[in-house]
Amino acid sequence: AKGAGRNRYRFFEPEMTVASQVRMALEVSLRPALARGEFELHYQPRIELAGMALVGMEALIRWNHPERGRVSPQQFIAIAEETGLIVDIGRWVLLEACTRTRRLMDEFGRPVAVSVNVSARQLAQPAFVDEVRTVLARTGLPPECLELELTESALIEDIEHTASMLRELKRLGISLAVDDFGTGFSSLAYLRRFPIDVLKLDRSFVLQQDQDVSTFDFIKAFVDMAHALNMAVVAEGVETGEVLDLLRAARCDQAQGYYLARPMTLSELRSVIEASGAP
Ligand code: C2E
Ligand code: CA
Ligand code: CA
Ligand code: CA
Repeated sequence: AKGAGRNRYRFFEPEMTVASQVRMALEVSLRPALARGEFELHYQPRIELAGMALVGMEALIRWNHPERGRVSPQQFIAIAEETGLIVDIGRWVLLEACTRTRRLMDEFGRPVAVSVNVSARQLAQPAFVDEVRTVLARTGLPPECLELELTESALIEDIEHTASMLRELKRLGISLAVDDFGTGFSSLAYLRRFPIDVLKLDRSFVLQQDQDVSTFDFIKAFVDMAHALNMAVVAEGVETGEVLDLLRAARCDQAQGYYLARPMTLSELRSVIEASGAP
């Protein structure tokens, strides 16, 4: 390629890897996906470890691509974040999750709690707090039934601004969780600056083995510290009964994972809520 024609042909340059071609194709089809109704939410139950009761669920987005079938959020959330599309997608997720959860409450006649993932880009929107307030008012979901999951990376930029924004969110009466704790570089001491209610321990954190300290002692010390800071601890990615027992012995509060329940459709979730008793 030479001169002016160069950019026109860049899609076909041999140095463009298959991975980057797929990425570009996804990026192009991601834009109209929202309008075409290709997104759907699945829900993964969250269990309280002391009594094994269902305490809520996490909303997880699914993309039903017309040609590619189900595309994993692992693949498209990063693209949505880079392009800024996550702001519109995230707005849809919040409204959809709150609408559906409110309906479940009406159906079952008891409160149902939902946790929604929020990306750093969304949190950086000046209107974000108003958006949450509006969705709560519009859907009638009680604020105490909504939790927002924020990643550590959303908390490392502009600490003062982020902290004041989180305080505003807390004033709405909702709950705030830090997602994937243990994968970033923030510490409990750092998180004290923010009004965080819940720490979600990443799967790798729980599985990580230490040479000198047993996994149990490590998790136990961590949970005690979180409790001292008034934070509840939720373990993510629990795949075996052994891990579950260890977490319970360490007084971890809640857990999510394939061993307990996989992310599921709304109608599957209905049967789980139904089976969880308490009229
Ligand atoms: P995440 O927020 O950490 O969500 C947990 C992920 O772990 C989910 O993957 C879930 O299906 C998976 N998981 C649950 N239990 C187990 C287990 O026992 N073992 C293993 N290995 N994995 C388990 P999923 O649904 O593919 O979502 C991946 C990531 O995409 C999420 O990680 C989150 O970061 C992002 N994501 C999903 N939905 C949304 C959304 O609505 N908005 C935003 N901003 N991000 C989302
Ligand atoms: Ca999450
Ligand atoms: Ca997580
Ligand atoms: Ca994760």
